[in-house]
Amino acid sequence: MADSVTDRFLRYVVIDTQSDAKSPTQPSTMKQKDLGRLLVEELLAIGVSDAHLDEHGYVYGTIPATTTKNNVPVVCFTAHMDTAPDFSGTGVKPQIIRNYQGGDIQLGGDDTQVIKVAEHPVLRDLIGHDIVTSDGTTLLGADDKAGIAEIMSAAAFLIDNPDIKHGAIRILFTTDEEIGRGVDKVDLKKLGADFAYTLDGETAGTIEDETFSADAVEIDIKGVAIHPGFAYGKMENAIRIAGAIIDRLPKDAAPETTKGRDGFIHPTGISGVMEKANLSFIIRDFTEEGLKTKEALLEKITMEVLAGYPGSSFTFTVKDQYRNMKVVLDKHPEIVEFAVEAIRRAGMEPVRGSIRGGTDGSRLSFMGLPCPNIFAGGHAFHSPLEFVSSQDMEKAVKTIVELAKLWEERA
Ligand SMILES: [Zn+2]
Repeated sequence: MADSVTDRFLRYVVIDTQSDAKSPTQPSTMKQKDLGRLLVEELLAIGVSDAHLDEHGYVYGTIPATTTKNNVPVVCFTAHMDTAPDFSGTGVKPQIIRNYQGGDIQLGGDDTQVIKVAEHPVLRDLIGHDIVTSDGTTLLGADDKAGIAEIMSAAAFLIDNPDIKHGAIRILFTTDEEIGRGVDKVDLKKLGADFAYTLDGETAGTIEDETFSADAVEIDIKGVAIHPGFAYGKMENAIRIAGAIIDRLPKDAAPETTKGRDGFIHPTGISGVMEKANLSFIIRDFTEEGLKTKEALLEKITMEVLAGYPGSSFTFTVKDQYRNMKVVLDKHPEIVEFAVEAIRRAGMEPVRGSIRGGTDGSRLSFMGLPCPNIFAGGHAFHSPLEFVSSQDMEKAVKTIVELAKLWEERA
């Protein structure tokens, strides 16, 4: 009998693929290639005859076209092999709760780890599902091995059913997504796809075509240093100046006070002595205009504070980080429209979502490969409470197959 998507998933999560931001190499950790090698072996076995692992740890492969139409676009499905550095991925012991009947889920390896319905209300929609968790001592790695297992299962299904008409489909598995380097070494020419879909989202039925736009700001303050005993009327302590700027930040535009489509100004670092101080910020918003407004506000606050310190000065530096992929995707509306239709054909009510962060897809979109994000079915990413439903993973497999069919039908 063919492997189920859950069989595949269980095989992949026990391979430790944690990435490491401190490493200068790509992949950042060589153990990511352990999974890459297994995936290549499995791809070759199911008939993806050009599957290979490159020197950066990426896996490439092609499901050959079965259609005689020559105008079907080349679609890529992509997922990342690494797991987040936030929590251990060594020695993952997956547990399956079959036919979940509701209630909190106590994890077997650590008494303190409980997946609570109150904190994860999505559990109410998963009654009757088979739910996979870790034992509570590691993360599970559904982010993004659920996506990998789904693409692998869809590939096996399409190759086993050549009567299903579709164009050429590229498979790409990346390394180091969790440390922001997932697409640094992708060879888009070799990939040769017209657009792509990441399978790296959460709840079944969701398609995300928006990410934050992101800038970083550095403020360097130069104060007036002097011996504290002779400081009267002269000292301008850079530490106090930095503190005054932080104190004036709008309290309603912080990560902890915003959600949905509201952005924020978020201080991420502070260092200083009397004569100089540095403040680091990240600025997030869904629109370019929103970013600029927040940066202008931060600069105004800085100038107002500095007005009280005539001997001091500052520099204000804005650095581009990434941009909302919607700008690119709106130019090719059918990429998201077809995904919405495929989700519906796979039996779900499609939900459009925005990501309060960036993805490989947002970077790929701006590199010329438009790339929205489809659900993979996992929840509570980057934590020991991570879980995924087998039935939701099967729905993602179905979504991929329906998408492949749709692009051929509509060509
Ligand atoms: Zn992910």
